Amino acid sequence: MPFAVLVTQHDKGKLIAPALAKLGVRVVENSNWNTDQLGTFAGEIERTLSPHACALEKAKQAIALTGLDIGLGSEGSFGGGPLPGIVNWNEEILCYYEPKHNRTIYAAASGPFPYESVVLNNSEALDQLTTPSAEGMHWIVNIGDELLKGLNLTMLKEAIALGERYSLRVWPLTVEPDLRALYCPPRQRMITKAAEDLARRLQALCPECEAPNFVVKQINKGLPCEQCSLPTEQALSETVCCDACGFSRSERVAHNAANPQYCRWCNP
Ligand SMILES: [Zn+2]
Ligand SMILES: [Zn+2]
Repeated sequence: MPFAVLVTQHDKGKLIAPALAKLGVRVVENSNWNTDQLGTFAGEIERTLSPHACALEKAKQAIALTGLDIGLGSEGSFGGGPLPGIVNWNEEILCYYEPKHNRTIYAAASGPFPYESVVLNNSEALDQLTTPSAEGMHWIVNIGDELLKGLNLTMLKEAIALGERYSLRVWPLTVEPDLRALYCPPRQRMITKAAEDLARRLQALCPECEAPNFVVKQINKGLPCEQCSLPTEQALSETVCCDACGFSRSERVAHNAANPQYCRWCNP
């Protein structure tokens, strides 16, 4: 059974292992390299690399540390998405790096992220953090000029009580979600989805050379409008291509014409 090594200090292995186990790839964790040196969410260390470059760097370090053939690197980012400023967005990238076969595959998953920082004025306002969906979520606060991270709700209440007892400055209290994977269930679910995307890519083999990641890499627009037949921005075909040998194949999408609501002329 091939091994894939993941460098993490945030307990991500168990999120990624099940999807790859189905393909006979066993994920092992290594925590001997501090991934925080590439940047932290709380901002103590600034991120300078792009998320893709960060994920590849972690995967390379994984191989350098262990000498195994396959390295994995996981990297999350926040912001962007389809409604920036309105809906907070989380993207998780998972890089599969196998230098022996000259293979680098990026898998991803993204979706809305339900938390952002809130300012609370008193302990009653903590009720905002007790919704069922916030189960397992951890938080970051600053009490008496000390940054406290990785607090679950019970620990957060204790920290507030302690702060009040010693007359530290507690209120108004800015409560931020702790975005490190082991403290953040929504990210855990997104990392699992990225692992499933990786499994899909590893199973999609090129018919010419059998290299993996033979998936849709290009969407070609121009599906004709049902009403006036002019090309629209809707997908006309998709191109599946192989990074290893360059073989590609275009496939028409299932429908023959676009709804006129997407037509620049019929619905300007
Ligand atoms: Zn039209
Ligand atoms: Zn190929």
